[in-house]
Amino acid sequence: MNKYMKIADELARDNLKTSAGGPFGAVIVKDGEIVGKGSNHVLKNNDPTAHAEIMAIRDACKNLNTFDLTGCVIYTSCYPCPMCLSAIIWANIKEVYYGNTKEDAKNIGFRDDFIYEYFDKLISGCDNETLRLMPVGREETIVAFNEFMVKEDKKMY
Ligand SMILES: [Zn+2]
Repeated sequence: MNKYMKIADELARDNLKTSAGGPFGAVIVKDGEIVGKGSNHVLKNNDPTAHAEIMAIRDACKNLNTFDLTGCVIYTSCYPCPMCLSAIIWANIKEVYYGNTKEDAKNIGFRDDFIYEYFDKLISGCDNETLRLMPVGREETIVAFNEFMVKEDKKMY
């Protein structure tokens, strides 16, 4: 097995010995070195966003003292859920290596597949049963955007 995937897998297996969360692990690698690690901590942290990939991104950003993981790759023991895929994109990571598939996650009771199906429906039309998305108050919320546009010392990411 790939040495980085082996560590991601070990993190997933180690999680089985705890009640921190599901059997998911991830490592972030830059120039051949591991710069961040994470395992699922949803239960331990009471945090539905504490997926292995998110934990690894937070660890790498802390270790490298940056919000920009350009040049890093991620090894995750399972195909990332939509939240993690988005976080990976926000972090400017361009390569993802995954072990188990999203179907494998579904087969052990995780809802990744369900969320992907939701996005398919969202793109092709509407799904009001899963989540209702309603516009409200844009005339107020747009003010901060307009002020951001003309803010001179803004930092883009
Ligand atoms: Zn995730």
